[in-house]
Amino acid sequence: LEIFGFSLKPGERLYNYVSIGELACFSEIKFPFLAIRGGDAPVLWLTGAVHGDELNGLWAMRRLFWELDPHKLRGTLIVTPLLNPMAFLAHNKISNLDYLDMDQQFPGNPAGLYSERMASVIFSEMKRLANYVIDFHTMNHDSRAVPYTVSKIVPGASTETVKKAYGMARIFGVYPNCRLDLSKSTSELPGTTSGSIDITCMKNNIPCFMAELGGGGRWDEEIINIARQGIINVMTYLELLDGKPQYPSKQLLISNRCFLRCNHGGLARMAVEPGNFIKKGDLLATIYNFWEEVDHLYAQRDHFIIGACFQPVVSTGDRIAFVGNEWHESDWRSDGLE
Ligand SMILES: [Zn+2]
Repeated sequence: LEIFGFSLKPGERLYNYVSIGELACFSEIKFPFLAIRGGDAPVLWLTGAVHGDELNGLWAMRRLFWELDPHKLRGTLIVTPLLNPMAFLAHNKISNLDYLDMDQQFPGNPAGLYSERMASVIFSEMKRLANYVIDFHTMNHDSRAVPYTVSKIVPGASTETVKKAYGMARIFGVYPNCRLDLSKSTSELPGTTSGSIDITCMKNNIPCFMAELGGGGRWDEEIINIARQGIINVMTYLELLDGKPQYPSKQLLISNRCFLRCNHGGLARMAVEPGNFIKKGDLLATIYNFWEEVDHLYAQRDHFIIGACFQPVVSTGDRIAFVGNEWHESDWRSDGLE
């Protein structure tokens, strides 16, 4: 097996850097990859930090990778824990080389800007080798969030691909799971959605889901361990490892989400926590200045709180929470995913 030009034999590990060019100060721009090979198939590819400040996933990958025994592995695991080294260096989601969101540049352009070239190098190899992909993200620095997955119904992807990606997301095992149908005109979040790793994989019939692991710019030990177990569950589900996954119990399936925003600036005190179910009319947050309560934010409908801002300094228009608007609870065993 050749990965980024390096060869990997059964029973072996491989780790190295791949260079994609140089900075003006002559240092290389390079990203790390790791791979471990048992048998030939299937190939599961884990990828993270396409947004450079999203760190929980990369540590979960590192932890798990060194625990695996290649002789107990059926297929091959490829890990690219840090796709955006320049944004990582800047402690930011995007880099100041091109100010592009790398997760909107896939499948990339080999003659393009830094983020486009990086996407091209990664995706050409991913398309050639990967049977399945998990893409790790987090929310922003200012938020705390429950870990959740996102799997998408992508126009152009086969029914089998869509079902497999959904099964992978569910067996990952966390309670909230967002299930988004991109074929519907009312795609719930505004902004560009094409060009992301997961959608590009799905269009190429490589089942992929996003694991969203808490907040950015820091490590959360509990969430890292949840992610580690989630990867093992997916590996077992895909038969890279022997044994049975830890089957999840009841899970929340969220089909519509939005951000809640402040109308007034000041000091925010949140009345809700990630993981809360709240009712229409419940208090979400109070905004203060130094002599009065400037605003009270009340829920306009029932919500499940996915993530909430924890830092108090807010301006008009800032996001204070990321919420589910429509959901139902469901059981792995009754959903025909086995
Ligand atoms: Zn991200």
